[in-house]
Amino acid sequence: MSAGYRGYIASRPVRDEMTPQHVQNLVVRDYATRNGLTFLLSATEYAMPGCFMMLDSAVASLDDIDGIIFFSLFMMPPDEASRRRIYRRTLELGRSLHFALENLAFDSERDIDRLEDMFQVDHFARSELRADDFDSEVTCPICGRLPASETPVGFSGVTSDVKPWPRVSNLLVCSGCGLLHKRTTAEWFQDIDVIYRDYEAYHQGQGAEQSVRQEEASELSPRSALLVRFAKDALALPSSGRLLDVGCGNGALLRSFAAEFPSWELIGVDRSESGADAVRTIPGVERFVVGGPADAPGHYDLVSLVHVLEHVPEPLVFLSEVAAKLNPGGAVLIDAPSFATNPFDLAVVDHVMHFSLATLRELTRQAGYALRAYSSSLIRKEHAALLTLADGTASTDSRASIAPDGATAAISLLQGLATWLPRHFAAQQVGILGTGIAATWVCEQLPNGAAFFVDEDPHRFGKPYMGAPVIAPADVPDDLTVFVAQPPVMAREIAERLAKEFPGPSWMACPSFHELEL
Ligand SMILES: [Zn+2]
Repeated sequence: MSAGYRGYIASRPVRDEMTPQHVQNLVVRDYATRNGLTFLLSATEYAMPGCFMMLDSAVASLDDIDGIIFFSLFMMPPDEASRRRIYRRTLELGRSLHFALENLAFDSERDIDRLEDMFQVDHFARSELRADDFDSEVTCPICGRLPASETPVGFSGVTSDVKPWPRVSNLLVCSGCGLLHKRTTAEWFQDIDVIYRDYEAYHQGQGAEQSVRQEEASELSPRSALLVRFAKDALALPSSGRLLDVGCGNGALLRSFAAEFPSWELIGVDRSESGADAVRTIPGVERFVVGGPADAPGHYDLVSLVHVLEHVPEPLVFLSEVAAKLNPGGAVLIDAPSFATNPFDLAVVDHVMHFSLATLRELTRQAGYALRAYSSSLIRKEHAALLTLADGTASTDSRASIAPDGATAAISLLQGLATWLPRHFAAQQVGILGTGIAATWVCEQLPNGAAFFVDEDPHRFGKPYMGAPVIAPADVPDDLTVFVAQPPVMAREIAERLAKEFPGPSWMACPSFHELEL
């Protein structure tokens, strides 16, 4: 009889990154809950590097359990032969492996290549990490240390409201905490002034909030409804209270929150006044304030920062301002992009911070918060986190290290694509799946642009995008190629699904770094 899934965590760094065991357990449990898996206790690997005793025993017990949920894929043994033995035994017994941080499952032969790709890219990225190109003018906004590397980007970018932009600032990796962030030059500040002045939230959907898929197979649902449920489940929120939504835009989160908690008092703040009228019509909204958290009146039981923190050049100062707005016992809800699952995030001009779980934790720890809940699977390609103020002094469990954390892998993929795309499609007409950030960026890299765009969201049909028509998958003529502009792992799933549903056209997944012929 099989009984459920054994968790697998470690008391040593994973890819040079030390994550406390309770945080690893939180991530593993969240993954199990979201995927409907029965979770058994976690096995904790010994601290000695290269020791896999606990993993060996978990693998040996696969007869009796349904499978293993690893905190991270990179807890698999570093040598390929050992990994392949584990894959083989898992498949022979009809079991499955899961990797919570990367939000990946392994249960079939074809998954082997997908996972091994990730090891290859990681290996490449780590061999590329060099502590050169020091610049004494820039220090890390989290830990104050110098960058370990600075990479000039060399490709054009996209704004977070999905408009092409001619340049992207250099990318820096901190030598202390591993934070991946952009250099904030005078030119960058000028650029973001222009970007925010004309900012249009969800302008392609005529203001309707973008829906997200949790898994390739699941239904589309609005991001903010998922976040409200996440906060509700993790915090047991009372039926009345006060919410401050920072960066409220046209009120997507406030609207979802009001539907779930009709007795709460809601206040929205935003740097731009463009959403004010829409926000004021939401039931429960008391006020709309132009500015930042410090400009909001009074104190709050919950402060939400949905797609906010990645825009802030001084996140420690900002999070202290947020802390000053909390009632005793108050919480902060954060939703921010994950560059490791979505490398295209690096091309977003006004995203100046690019977080991993480790750097998000380090930032919030330094700002005096404790992580209460975290999910990398609530919304694909994003971090969702709930924080409360830590009692007493901030814990000192972090250690300074160069933590590549996939930063160089993400940078290499985009640089590789920027070289490969114009070459590969030099003499070939191509359509692009999507009209979001990745699709816009891919189109910009093509000298002749896209022949057409394909979107599954009916809001987007009809009006042209970047000079090309937007059509439904069913309307793509046979024998044409459609490039699936998504991170490689996701792109492959989407391309396979569309190829089954619409066998005429050729659905081409965005290649992974090692598949690029450079
Ligand atoms: Zn740092």
